[in-house]
Order: sequence, then C-alpha cells, then structure tokens
Amino acid sequence: MNPLRLLLLGAPGSGKGTQTSKLLNQFKHIKSVSSGDLLRQRIQQKTDLGRIASEYIAQGKLLPDSLMNDLVVGELSTRGWLSADSSFLLDGFPRTLEQARSLRTQLAPHKASLNLVVELDVPTDVILERIENRYVHVPSGRVYNLTYNPPKVSGKDDITGEPLTKRPDDTAEVFGKRLKNYAETVGPLKHFYSELGILKKVSGSTSDIIFPQLSKLVVQKLHQS
Ligand code: ATP
Ligand code: MG
Repeated sequence: MNPLRLLLLGAPGSGKGTQTSKLLNQFKHIKSVSSGDLLRQRIQQKTDLGRIASEYIAQGKLLPDSLMNDLVVGELSTRGWLSADSSFLLDGFPRTLEQARSLRTQLAPHKASLNLVVELDVPTDVILERIENRYVHVPSGRVYNLTYNPPKVSGKDDITGEPLTKRPDDTAEVFGKRLKNYAETVGPLKHFYSELGILKKVSGSTSDIIFPQLSKLVVQKLHQS
C-alpha cells in the first residue's frame, strides 16, 4: 500500500471536518491534523498563540502564513509524521499559495510531500444552511449538526459527554467574510496542486454523496502502482 498524504480543500462549512471523521473511521492507519482545531485548542488553553488566533478568527481573517506554517509543521514533526512512509490528512492548511509553497519546501527533504488534494465542492446555499445548526467539541474537533447529525444527548459530545459549543466565527457576518476569503485564495492554491497533477474534485450537497467519491479517490491512491 502507498502512503496517503491528503489535503482536503473546501469552503468553510463544506464538510472537511465531517469527511475527515468518516475517512479516519474507514482507514484506520490514517491520522489527521486540522489547522482550525489546533487554533481552537490553543484558544481554549489560553496560550500566547491562542490569544493572537482568537483576534484573527473573530474577524474572519487568516492568520499570518509563517505562523500557520510553524504551527502545522511543528505538529507534524511532534507526531513523528515527517517521513516517507507516513500517511496523514490535512484539513484547513495549506490554504494560501504561500503556505502551499513553504509546506512543500519543508516536506520535500523528508520525501513526505502531499500526494493527493481533493476539493469538496458544495453549493453555497447548502453551506449557509448548515452553519446555523453547527456545534463543535473543541478538544477533539468533532462536528455536529442539529439537523443532519445531532449529538445523542443534546449539547454534549457523544464520546466524552463534554459540552458542545457554537463557534464564534459561525455568525452570518464573520461567516460571509470567511467565504469571501476562501473564494479569493483558493484559485492560486488549486492551480499550484493541479500543476503538480494531484488535484481532484468531488461535488455534492450531502456528505452521503460526497463521501463515496472521496473514499474511492483515497483507495485509488493507496493502491496505485
Ligand atoms: P470549516 O471548519 O467550516 O470548514 P474553515 O475552514 O473556515 O471552516 P477553520 O479551518 O476551522 O475553518 O479555520 C477557522 C479560522 O482559523 C479561519 O477563519 C482562520 O482565521 C484561521 N485559520 C485556520 N487555518 C488557517 C490557515 N491555514 N491560514 C490562516 N488562517 C487559518
Ligand atoms: Mg473545519
């Protein structure tokens, strides 16, 4: 089996977190890092980075590239994933061309470059409707939706029983800014990965339509000769 080093691209609310959980469930040897989850954990832990992050996030602004790069590459390194045989999934990073370039520069010496990038293409009206009902469990990054995927006990995480919270950046105003940021930054990012020949796209309005397509791409990559 080949290693899988996958980046999920997609607008905020397109279901990156949900698809990540489903993939981790199906492919037990794969692990994931979500840049947004890392930041929310730093905020909850009240670290210096957490204080900086909360200001950017509250305004729907992207954090500086160098800071994000250090955070995520540091995490990959800490987890021992900077090696040619490692498999991992990234959600939310890289999300600018600059981040993509510097990640590639840092992974290349370890022969651990990304080998698959999948864009989740979900209609904007579906995304807007989802966000209103979205709740998260910050320590794990697990995502719930009161309509499609409600927790077993109202307001509590299924696994730990800890409280769920609403993301402060899921308000109409901030969410609009996040969507706009995404639209502005995704073009060059897609171009970068398409030139490398590793960009794919899956489209649909529900995770049940998206997931089988995504899973098929992953299986192909794992078994491609
Ligand atoms: P969703 O989680 O709904 O898919 P999203 O992708 O916008 O939406 P996160 O990835 O959780 O949300 O990111 C939340 C916020 O954290 C962003 O709006 C931004 O402020 C900051 N952030 C996360 N990743 C990055 C990154 N790679 N570069 C810069 N800022 C980031
Ligand atoms: Mg997310």
